[in-house]
Order: sequence, then structure tokens, then C-alpha cells
Amino acid sequence: MLSYQHAYHAGNFADVHKHLTLFAVIDHLLRKKSPVTYMDTHAGRGLYPLAAEETARLGEYLEGIARLWQARTRLGDDPLLGDWLAAVARVQARNGRLDHYPGSPWWLSDRLRPQDRLMLFELHPGEHGHLARQTLPDNVQRIHGDGLQGLVKRLPATTPRLCVLVDPSYERKAEYGEVAEAVLEAMRRARHGVMLVWYPLLPAGRHRELLEGLREGGLRKIWRSELKLREAKEGERGMVGSGMLVINPPWGLDTRLDAAMRQVTPLLGATCRHTGDWWVGE
Ligand code: SAM
Repeated sequence: MLSYQHAYHAGNFADVHKHLTLFAVIDHLLRKKSPVTYMDTHAGRGLYPLAAEETARLGEYLEGIARLWQARTRLGDDPLLGDWLAAVARVQARNGRLDHYPGSPWWLSDRLRPQDRLMLFELHPGEHGHLARQTLPDNVQRIHGDGLQGLVKRLPATTPRLCVLVDPSYERKAEYGEVAEAVLEAMRRARHGVMLVWYPLLPAGRHRELLEGLREGGLRKIWRSELKLREAKEGERGMVGSGMLVINPPWGLDTRLDAAMRQVTPLLGATCRHTGDWWVGE
């Protein structure tokens, strides 16, 4: 049963980490004219009004995007953050007010060129319904179905380049292993694809199964970025950090993200740290 709804968490610190990384990757891909197929295996709704009941209830965005938004003039000095925050500003209904947060379908479709294509997979009927109501370009396909199966089935892509975001909710423990299996199979079918895989940092450390699975499966060139808010307290079960793997990262991504994260971490709390390293090298 699917119970997770991203609207409860939209714009939190993990979304900031995930979407800033995604934005930086897309930025690199846009430097060449050759077409890109983008796939978003777990798309969610696409755009989140912050006043919606679900989002307002937990108000997680107040400790995520809202902190960056308040500091946007100063953060604009960093080229990546400046461009990213300018993109966030474009989705706001009222100039200068933070009232919406864009999800991955928006980030992926915003700079989609006519020669590119985008596939958005969403399994939850209600979430897919929200996504279906978004206005998106013609070269965006919305698929109501399983994203991991859909990804593997549609590879290799028909374009020379591929970029995939895998962003499950990890409601089930088995998902860590399932994601590793699907990513390994996808990379067998599209060796040069750029793949981003998000995972939560939980006190139980379940993400290790995913990371080890990819390493043991023989994948190379996996860059890891982790944004940790704090060490977990005794008995704590909730998310204390956000992790992102980038397989086949574009050249220079690490330097740009490190610089941006140095500006972001102090805004997220005194104990917040970002680390970037190779989980598996060349
Ligand atoms: N990627 C979105 C973003 O960044 O805005 C957030 C996605 S949210 C973390 C995970 C989504 O995956 C939920 O909307 C959930 O309904 C959906 N989902 C869960 N299992 C799925 C599956 N097997 N295939 C596709 N979507 C799935």
C-alpha cells in the first residue's frame, strides 16, 4: 500500500539538497546540443503550494527552502545557488513571496529543449492525478506505473544521452535492495547514462544496503554527496540527513556543489555538514 505523499515534506532540507544537485547536473548536460532523455522514476505531484493543508501541517519547508529564500540576496553571489534561486523565484505566484515549491518534474521540464524528452513515472493514483493536471511541455510523458520497472523496460534510450533521477520514498525496507537491482540493470543497458539516486540518512543506516549493492554489483564512478543535519540522538528514528549518489557525474560537479553547500549548511543549523566523495572511483 502506498501511503507516502511528498506534499507533507515538500521544500524540506532534503529537497533542497536533491534539487540543487539535480539542477547542477542538468546545467552541465545543457552545455552540449545533443538530445537527452530524462527519466524521473518517482515523480510525485510536480509543484507544491506551500499553503496546502498537507504542506502547512508539518511546515518542513520552513527549515529548508525558506531559510535559503530569506538569504537569497547574499546566496546569489554563488553562481549555482544564484541560478537555482532565480528558478525557484519563477514559480512563485506573487513576486518576492515564497508560496510554491517545485518538485522534480518541474526542475526537469523547466529547461527541457525541443530535442530532449522527459518521462515521469508515478505509481500513486492520487499523486499521478495531481501530476496529470500540471501544465508541462509536449515532450513530457506522464506514466501511471512502477518507475523502476518502467525505467529498465525503456532502456536503452533513443537519444545519445540519458539522465535519470531515482527518488523513492523508501516506505518499505526492501526498496533499498530493489533500487540497487534496478540501477544495476539500468546501467547495464545504458552504460554512459548519468544517474542520480536519493536516499535518506536514518539512524538505522538502511541506506548501506543500497550503497554496498551498487559497489558489489561492479558499478564504477559513483560520486556521493551527503548533507547531515546532526548526529542521531539515542532512540531517534527519523531522518537526520539526505544522501545523493551521482553515477557518471559530469566533470566539475563536485566543486560547484561543494561551494554551494558551504553557503547552505550554516543556514540549516550549527551542526549541519556536507561531505562529497567518491563512493566508487573510476
Ligand atoms: N521526486 C519527487 C520530487 O523530487 O519532487 C518526490 C518523490 S517522493 C519522494 C516519492 C514518490 O514516489 C511518491 O509520490 C510515491 O507515490 C511514488 N512512488 C512510490 N512507489 C513508486 C513506484 N514503485 N513507482 C513510481 N512511483 C512510486
